[in-house]
Amino acid sequence: MNWLMAHRTASIAAANLRRRLGVSEDSYIDVFAALRRCGLAVMGQNMPNLFGVYLPAGSGRHGGIFLNAAMGEATLRHTAAHEIGHAEFGHERCLADEPDSFLGMPRDKWPEQEKQAEAFAAWFLMPIRLVKATLTRLGLDIPREAADVYQLSLHLGASYLGALRHLKHLRMVQPQVADGWAKVQPGRLRTRLSGQRVQTPPRVWDLTALTEGSRLPVEQGDRLIVRAPWLGSDPEFIGPDAVHMLAAPYAVAPGEGAEFDVTGVIDTESQLTVTSFDRRQAWSVTLMPTPDDHRGLIAAPSMQVLVGPASGVRR
Ligand SMILES: [Zn+2]
Repeated sequence: MNWLMAHRTASIAAANLRRRLGVSEDSYIDVFAALRRCGLAVMGQNMPNLFGVYLPAGSGRHGGIFLNAAMGEATLRHTAAHEIGHAEFGHERCLADEPDSFLGMPRDKWPEQEKQAEAFAAWFLMPIRLVKATLTRLGLDIPREAADVYQLSLHLGASYLGALRHLKHLRMVQPQVADGWAKVQPGRLRTRLSGQRVQTPPRVWDLTALTEGSRLPVEQGDRLIVRAPWLGSDPEFIGPDAVHMLAAPYAVAPGEGAEFDVTGVIDTESQLTVTSFDRRQAWSVTLMPTPDDHRGLIAAPSMQVLVGPASGVRR
């Protein structure tokens, strides 16, 4: 099976599963909610050299997924969706992946099942309607530069390269352009955007009037640049305790907006509202809660064993 065929089958399978699980195609895909509903046992562990493991159901045994709990949120989300893909296609066990596994091979040499699962992850997490809606919020029809892909990846909860690869499949970025952007280090984009050469924040959001009203999957350590000149000088804000306004912004000039750091964990969905000094103008977004250890579902104190696909119970 070539990648084109893998993507065709994966896009259909991903849309079917989203429909079956009641996962909307219009907003950020909560992969952990999908895991809860899809009938697989899920467990998180620190697993050096492994992203994740999929074990199909056997006699008297639930199907299950192990995720490496030490991974960052975007990698964890992608790996979880990859393993769900194996389950959806009824694949054999996947170890994704030991150092000598398929991950070291050129992508066109990957085993058939791995191509399918990998394509499934992209289509499940980045449905075309969500990608288009997010681009619109960024003021774009298609990405114009690497920085656009970076911003899109933050909103989608994907890695920079994962988002870029998917945009190529969606034909929103030409292959040769994508190859060039793939060489751009996200760190350089963050430095340019944040205006900070040293102690560059690990993730930098570029927010404008268009992104007002968005739900942002923020993480501890994020920098939020709010470009909102209509708020004037000395804007004020209301937000969760974990969010702090920079007294001296790096990227926006005085009177052009404000900057915020997410310095802690956001426990519950919260509003961040920035207002002009006279309180007549406002800008607001919703900050989604961050799992305190990036582990989502698997941070639950007890392992969640759900109904396995081969147990006879229909999902
Ligand atoms: Zn796999």
